[in-house]
Amino acid sequence: MEEKELRAQVVATGIELLRDALVARTWGNISARVDGDKFLITPSGLDYVRTKEDDLVLYDAKTGEWEGRRKPSSEKGIHAAAYEIFPEVGFVIHTHQVYASAIGVAGFENLDIKEEERKQLGGLARAAYGLPGTKKLKEAVRKALEAGNHTILMQNHGALIAATTKEKAYANALLLEQICKRSVKLAQEEGKESGTADYAMDGLMARIKKEFPLAEFVCTDAIRARSCRDCQLIAQLDDMAQMIGRRVNVVERNYDAVAKELKKRNAVFVKGCGAIVCGMDADDTDALKILLDKAAVTDLNTLALGSSARLGVFDCALMRFVYTKKYSKKKNA
Ligand SMILES: [Zn+2]
Repeated sequence: MEEKELRAQVVATGIELLRDALVARTWGNISARVDGDKFLITPSGLDYVRTKEDDLVLYDAKTGEWEGRRKPSSEKGIHAAAYEIFPEVGFVIHTHQVYASAIGVAGFENLDIKEEERKQLGGLARAAYGLPGTKKLKEAVRKALEAGNHTILMQNHGALIAATTKEKAYANALLLEQICKRSVKLAQEEGKESGTADYAMDGLMARIKKEFPLAEFVCTDAIRARSCRDCQLIAQLDDMAQMIGRRVNVVERNYDAVAKELKKRNAVFVKGCGAIVCGMDADDTDALKILLDKAAVTDLNTLALGSSARLGVFDCALMRFVYTKKYSKKKNA
C-alpha cells in the first residue's frame, strides 16, 4: 500500500476506535508500517477527530529518528518493538478498551478463551506494569512480543494489538473485547439491589447542576453496582489515575455530601444510585463517564476474584501531575 493510503487508513482507524469505544479522548495510538523499519504513527495528545493525514509522524524503529510537524506518540517505543520483532506485522493498535483492561488488571485465571481464538489473536500475553512512556513498559511489552505473542495486555493500562493489516488488527481488537467481556465478573453484594430508580436523583441533580453546570449523572450497570459498596474505589488503571486521581469516594445521596466531593474531585459515587462526574468541558465529562465505568468494571471484577492490583500513591500522583500539566497547556494553547 502507498504511504498516502496508509495515512488515510490510520486517520480513519482513530475515528473507528472512538466510535466503538475502544479508546476515549486522545488515549491509545495507531501505527502502520510504510517500508522496512519506517512506520507512521499518530501524534502525541491530539484528538482523533482533529487528526489529519499530515499530522501523522514517520518514525524509524531502528534509529528513533522521525519526520513530521508534530511529536510522535509517547508510546512509539512499543509500536517500534512490534515492527522490529515481527517482519510480517503491518499495523499496530494500542487501545484502552474496557474489558481487556479489566482482564489486564485481574489476570488470565478466569479467561474463557478457545484455542482458535488465541490463534486468531496471534497469541495472547500480559506485560508487567510500567508507567506510560517509560523504558520499563517498553521492555515488558517487548518481552511479551518476543515470546511470540501479537496481542498484549499491558497491566493496569490497556492493550496492544499487532497484525498484518488494519482489518486484521481491528477485528482482533473487537475479538479480544468479546473474549474479555464474557470472562469478566461483576461482583454484586448479596441482598443489595444494584438498581435504584433514576427519579431518586432528579431533585439532587437539578441542585448540583446549578453549582456545577457541567456535572452529569451516570449509571451504567457497573457504576450502579459499585455505588452500592461503602469503600472508596482506588485506581487500578493509568487513565483513571491521570484524569481523576487515585480514588473516587462513595457518599450519601444528599446535596452537601456530593457538592463537597465535587469541589475536590471530578467524580463521586452516590450511594446506591450511580455516580456524578464533572469535567472541564462537555468532552471532558463524556470521557469521565467512560473512565469511571471502566474503573468500576475493573474493580468489581477484581473484587469477585478476591484480587486487587492498585496503583501506588507515588505513581498516581506523578501521572496526575503530568496529565494536568499537559492538559492545561493544551487547553490554553
Ligand atoms: Zn495508553
